Amino acid sequence: MARFSFLELARQALSGHQGWPRHWRSRELQPRYDILIIGAGGHGLAAAWHLARDHGARNIAVLEAGWLGGGNVARNTVTIRSNYMRDDSIPFYVRSVALFDRLTRDLNYNTMHSRRGMVDVLQTWGMVRDRRRRRLTMDLHGATYRPMSVPELRRMVPPLTGGGPDARLPILGAEFHPDAAVNRHDAVAWGYARAIDAMGVEIHQNTPVRAILRGADGAVTGVDTPRGVVRADKVALAVSGHTTTLTETAGLRLPLRTINLSAFVSEPLQPCLDVIVNCPDLGVYLSQSDKGELVIGGATDLGQSFRRDVKQHVFEETVAAMLDLFPAFRQVKMLRQWGGHLDIAHDASPIVSATDVPGLFVSAGWWGGYKAIPAGGMCLAHLVATGTPHPLAAPFGLGRFRHLDYVLEAGTTTAR
Ligand SMILES: Cc1cc2nc3c(=O)[nH]c(=O)nc-3n(C[C@H](O)[C@H](O)[C@H](O)COP(=O)(O)OP(=O)(O)OC[C@H]3O[C@@H](n4cnc5c(N)ncnc54)[C@H](O)[C@@H]3O)c2cc1C
Repeated sequence: MARFSFLELARQALSGHQGWPRHWRSRELQPRYDILIIGAGGHGLAAAWHLARDHGARNIAVLEAGWLGGGNVARNTVTIRSNYMRDDSIPFYVRSVALFDRLTRDLNYNTMHSRRGMVDVLQTWGMVRDRRRRRLTMDLHGATYRPMSVPELRRMVPPLTGGGPDARLPILGAEFHPDAAVNRHDAVAWGYARAIDAMGVEIHQNTPVRAILRGADGAVTGVDTPRGVVRADKVALAVSGHTTTLTETAGLRLPLRTINLSAFVSEPLQPCLDVIVNCPDLGVYLSQSDKGELVIGGATDLGQSFRRDVKQHVFEETVAAMLDLFPAFRQVKMLRQWGGHLDIAHDASPIVSATDVPGLFVSAGWWGGYKAIPAGGMCLAHLVATGTPHPLAAPFGLGRFRHLDYVLEAGTTTAR
C-alpha cells in the first residue's frame, strides 16, 4: 500500500498520477476463512481493521451484499458527538469520538474530519432540565458540554434569527458540545477498506448472505451466498437494518425493529453555519457541508418498515421545523433526499454481543451509529477475537434483555 504523503504525491505527479495502486482488490472467494464479517459498512470494516491490527487476525473475509459503503455509512448526516445520557453509554461514545479525531492519521487517509462543535437549542423547560442533567452526567465521564446564553447562541449562529420572545416556542437557552464533529463518510469507509486490504483482509462485494449455517451441535459453520457456501467458525453480523432478516435464518429472534430515517440536502450556499445545530424540541438538526450544502436530519418514520423512501410528512415536518428557527432559509432549494434502515432496540441502545448460537456475534441497534463506528468496530473485534466483551461494550450485551438490565438511552438527537 502506498502511503499518502507529500513526497508520494509529488512522485505520483511526475507520472501523471497513473501509478496509484487500487484502494482494495477483488479476489477469489475462498471456501473457508477463520472469521467472516457480514456487511461492509462502517462497523464491519472497522471490526475487520481492529481484528487485523490489534489481534493479528488475517484470514478474514468481509462479505457485502451490494457495494462497499453503500449502506448507512454513506447515508447518514455525519454528526459525531458524545452528549449521551447514561453512565453506561457516555464512556463508549467519548472513546469513539476520540478515535474518530485521530482516524485520518491511523488510517493514513484524509477523512476530512472537522471538529466544529454542536449546539443544542432549547425551547421548553423540560428540555432545559433534560440537557442540564445530561451535562452533569457527562461531566463525570469527561465529555464536554457547557451552558450558553441566548445572546451567545445568536452570536455563534448568525442565521438563527427565529425563536424570539414572540415565537410559538421561544429559545430559552442552549448547551454547547465542543467535541462534536463532522467528517466525510465515504472517506471513512474507503479508508478502512484500503487499510484492511493492505493487511490481507479480503473484501467481497456483491456477495449477499442468504442464510447462516449451523452444524449438528448448533454452532455456526458458515454462511450461504449465491456464490456458494463459505465456511467459518466465527461469523460477525454488522448489517445494520437487516440484522433480524439474517439472525432469523439461524433461529434467533432479536429485540430489534427496523425503521427508516431520512436526510435532506440543500443546494450549496455561501459558508454561513460553522457549527452543528440541533433543535430537539422541534425535531430537526443541521450542519453545513464543506461543499456548502445544508445537511438536514429529523425524526425517524413512525412505523417499522424496510422501505427507504422519504415520507412527505416527514420532509414537511423537518423542513418546517428548520424554517421556524432559520426563516432566511425559506428561499433555499432542496437538492437531494434519501432514507436508510436503522435497527433500533427496545431501549434505544446498541447490541454488541455474542449470541445463543456459538460462533455467531452481532453488532446492531445502531440508531445513531455513525459516531460509534471506531469504538463499535474496536469492541466487536475484541469480542470476536477474545470471546469476552470489551469493557466499554459490556453493558450492551443481549443478556440485558433477559435480566431487564436495560440501558434506556434518551441521548439520541431527535427521538420521537
Ligand atoms: C438518514 C440517516 C442519518 C443518520 N445520521 C447519523 C448521524 O448524524 N450520526 C450518527 O452517529 N449516525 C447517524 N445515522 C446512523 C448511522 O448511519 C448508522 O447507525 C450506522 O452507519 C450503521 O452502521 P454501518 O455503517 O455498519 O451500517 P451500513 O453502512 O448500513 O452497513 C451494513 C452493510 O451490510 C450490508 N448487508 C445487509 N444485508 C446483508 C447481507 N444479507 N449480506 C451481506 N451484506 C449485507 C449492507 O449492504 C450494508 O452495506 C444516520 C442514519 C441515517 C439512515
